[in-house]
Formats: sequence, C-alpha cells, structure tokens
Amino acid sequence: TTFADLGVSAQLCEAIEKMKFTHPTEIQKESIPWAIEGRDIIGLAQTGSGKTAAFAIPIIQRLWDNPQAFFACVLAPTRELAYQIAETFESLGTVIGVRSAVIVGGMDMMSQSIALSKRPHVIVCTPGRLQDHLENTKGFSLKNLKYLVMDEADRLLDMDFGPKIDQILKVIPRERNTFLFSATMTTKVAKLQRASLNKPVKVEV
Ligand code: AMP
Repeated sequence: TTFADLGVSAQLCEAIEKMKFTHPTEIQKESIPWAIEGRDIIGLAQTGSGKTAAFAIPIIQRLWDNPQAFFACVLAPTRELAYQIAETFESLGTVIGVRSAVIVGGMDMMSQSIALSKRPHVIVCTPGRLQDHLENTKGFSLKNLKYLVMDEADRLLDMDFGPKIDQILKVIPRERNTFLFSATMTTKVAKLQRASLNKPVKVEV
C-alpha cells in the first residue's frame, strides 16, 4: 500500500516522501481513507504507531483545497507532545505554508495572543490554556473550526482536563470533523467519544 492508494493527493505524497515515510503505518492505512471521506474517527493506537501523521495528513489535504485560519485545533495532554504535533504539521505542510501555533500552559499569555492574532491554520493546545484564551483573548474564536483532534485522550482525562474539554466543545461548531486518539479505551474515553464524535469509525492497531 502507498499513501496514494489511501487517497492522498500527489502534492502531499511528495511532502510525505521528503519526510522519508515510504509506506503508511497500520494506523495510517486504517484511518486516512475514512478521514479523507469526511468521517469522524476513534483511533486506539500507541505513541510510535504514526498516529500524528494519521490525523495530520487528512487535515492538511483538506486545508490544501481551502486554506483558512483556525481550520484545525489539536488538544494534547502535555507541552512536549503539543510541540511534536505542531512540528509534524509544519513539516508535512511546508509546501502549502501551513502555519501553526502552540498554545500551552506555563508559557507567556501575551506572546500566545500575538501568535493567535496572526491567524494560524492549526493550533495545538493544552485544554486549560486554550480555554483561557477563548475567554480572555479579544478577537479569538473557534467559530469556523473544521477539525477537532483529541490526542492521547486517556491521558487528557487522567489529567482532569475533562471539564475544560466540555467547555471547549460548547464553543466550537457542531458541524466539524472530530478525531479522538487514545492508547486505551476507558469509561471516561467512551463518555468523551459520545459527547464529541458523530458516527465514528473505530480503528484499532
Ligand atoms: P507518532 O506515533 O505519531 O508519535 O509517530 C512516531 C514516529 O514515526 C515519528 O517519529 C514519525 O515521524 C514516524 N512516522 C510516522 N509515520 C511514518 C511512516 N509512514 N513511515 C515512517 N515513519 C513514520
């Protein structure tokens, strides 16, 4: 199987090749075609499976056709993971100039507000800090959001980000695509799935 076989556009396949990804991983094979079709996805996959590219590739492909500010928002449990995810978006998306911002706790609010005022395509956030900006940063909203990704959802919920995520879900469009990735399926993950995904395809590797 090649990325082209999964429905990935020729230009994006070139960007993927430049990253030396010769073949899609299992999670990529199982999720990319559904994601490109516009389905919501719940993916059970560990770190190291290639899950980041599994959600980044379909999002960048859609962004290519229709570049818009605040197109996608990724929620991650930690700062380190947020930076890694943003890096994947930037490397895969260089050709179309995908711009991203990392919005995480423990960093300066003001410089993040400036980054948001530049209207990036993708934001990668920890939920608490995103909620803080949604409430306090003038002119910032996610009312045009097309994709919400919750990465390492089991860890997000273990860290008690559940209430923040619920608040975020209230201020983003109902009509959107949602990808939820988790290493394990727990009661809390199942509850979040019901609250946020619409007829999801379940992929498990
Ligand atoms: P992740 O599970 O998203 O943390 O990815 C784990 C590592 O696998 C990262 O360093 C990626 O750059 C790499 N990777 C992702 N997809 C592929 C692929 N199709 N072929 C080779 N490496 C990949």
